[in-house]
Amino acid sequence: MTTDAAFEAAKARYAAEREKRLREDGNDQYVELTGDHADLDRDPFAEPLERDPISEDTDVVIVGAGFAGMLTAIELKKRGITNIRMVEKGGDFGGTWYWNRYPGCMCDVESRTYLPLLEETGYRPTELYASAPEIFGYCQLMGRHFDLYPHALFQTEIADAAWDDDANRWVVTTTRGDELRATNLVLAGGILNKAKLPGIPGIERFAGHTFHTSRWDYDYTGGGPHEPMENLADKRVGIIGTGATGVQAVPRLAQTAKELFVFQRTPSPVGERNNGPIDPAWYDDQPEGWHEERVINFTDSVTGKQPEQNLVGDGWTEVMWVNSQEITDDPDRIAELDRLDFEVMEGMRSRVEELIDDDATAEALKPWYGKQCKRVCFHDDYLPAFNQPNVHLVDTDGRGVDRVTETAVVVDGEEYEVDCLIFASGFEVTTDLDRRLGFNPRGRNGLALSERWHDGPHTLHGVLSSEFPNMFTISIVQAGFGVNFVHFLGKSAEHVAWTIDACRSEGIATIEAEPDAEEEWLGVLFSFAGGMARYATSCTPGTYNGEGVRTMKAARNLVYPGSLLDYNEYLVRWREAGDFPGAKITRT
Ligand code: NAP
Repeated sequence: MTTDAAFEAAKARYAAEREKRLREDGNDQYVELTGDHADLDRDPFAEPLERDPISEDTDVVIVGAGFAGMLTAIELKKRGITNIRMVEKGGDFGGTWYWNRYPGCMCDVESRTYLPLLEETGYRPTELYASAPEIFGYCQLMGRHFDLYPHALFQTEIADAAWDDDANRWVVTTTRGDELRATNLVLAGGILNKAKLPGIPGIERFAGHTFHTSRWDYDYTGGGPHEPMENLADKRVGIIGTGATGVQAVPRLAQTAKELFVFQRTPSPVGERNNGPIDPAWYDDQPEGWHEERVINFTDSVTGKQPEQNLVGDGWTEVMWVNSQEITDDPDRIAELDRLDFEVMEGMRSRVEELIDDDATAEALKPWYGKQCKRVCFHDDYLPAFNQPNVHLVDTDGRGVDRVTETAVVVDGEEYEVDCLIFASGFEVTTDLDRRLGFNPRGRNGLALSERWHDGPHTLHGVLSSEFPNMFTISIVQAGFGVNFVHFLGKSAEHVAWTIDACRSEGIATIEAEPDAEEEWLGVLFSFAGGMARYATSCTPGTYNGEGVRTMKAARNLVYPGSLLDYNEYLVRWREAGDFPGAKITRT
């Protein structure tokens, strides 16, 4: 086939693959880890903790002690605000890196770029793509270095957070009976804090062993993040999900499982990883400020800014060098962008052909959608694992698993008997914020967030919300995003800490968004959303496009479509304006 014909055929195939997967229930197809599934949410890593409830007044309560919460606390402390409480469900710092300990888990962004504050802590990542234990260790190091441990309440969840109009305070209660009365409430729960299960009929009936990848059960599998899982040698293991997590876990499961069945709904694009050690001497040669420069350079390189020098120069920067979602009305440019995108994805598809021995398996592993539809994966052992005789790809042709029985997973009427079923089914990313938080903040006059946001989020920059004074949200909703998520979190943390500090020093008692400013901000987001909207129509459903559901509520749930550095410019200009434009303030 000529390249032109292949391009046209690919476009038709993209549309067909999308059509196959679109379903009306969108996010509702997934099931929470509650009720029958509550046990799957249990923390397998923490020692039981007993402590007495506390009751205190504090300047800031931060919900979450992952990178978002930690960076916010660090920025606040830098500004002299030290009366801070961090409330965290996990047993330590780390957030997603506390929970995700599955074998093979590693950072998919270069660690010298991904890990924050490297020059401040003096830490030198050891591998180009650091493993999860190294990153979790770094989170603990940050906790010690910035003296965050005394502020943290671990293994604690928020029960309720209500604004007290008379006292100008948030009253926050927890599942351990704490009462925290706080001037400010920062919601820094992250985007991967709430695991989800596929709503497959019968999953609750499965009588074998089962767990979600973010609660890996090493007691069952044996081994560890780096050690072989020897207990699987006589086990038939099933894994559902082939996103970034599945891609990392499968090669490790393939090493020891007697049989491994990988149930696939949509294949991921998987490029070369080329991981390796970082020469410690490299750090000695870096000038002051190298880290910030590298972080910015990476973000520019993966958002179509094409800096003169590509410092990281890895698969990410190669794949994302051109932004397929560029805003343009020029049909020739759109055609060129589509063509360049196609070529990148053809490269991914050729890689499958090169690496997979069996033709039918190779065909099933090829991704038929654009490079910006789902998170691109990079791994050197994932595809070759399917050449092993003990590894079986069960492709569901976009439909997903049909049902689960007491002993088996059923696809196309065929029963695949498994002893253990692992869910690599991801996290709730675009469901309602109160559902993801696990509590429903109540603002002025007891107004619940779910009521105020019944038609979708209302925010200024994704941070301030009307009717919710002194509440600051760090989330991708109506805010920035980026391949390097921690870069975005750092910018958000700085903004939130600056605002809290400015309010404190200027005698401002409350700050919240003006409803008009929220609509104006939405207008800004929509004005840039054209490129994304154009592109998303050819994407298979997933977390990037709200599972393909197109309602006004889903539309309000968008992220800033351009580079997070451009998004950050809005925050900088707002801070520099000096009079909190678009915010309603009251003074003491
Ligand atoms: P995910 O990307 O949401 O993948 C979930 C998988 O489950 C998808 O393959 C999905 O298929 C599949 N699935 C859902 N319902 C199914 C059903 N009924 N039958 C069969 N398959 C079903 O979740 P994830 O892999 O955990 O990754 C989530 C995010 O975590 C990523 O986007 C990334 O940001 C982050 N992550 C990062 C790293 C890192 O290296 N830093 C590593 C892992 C994860 P569909 O595609 O068809 O929906």
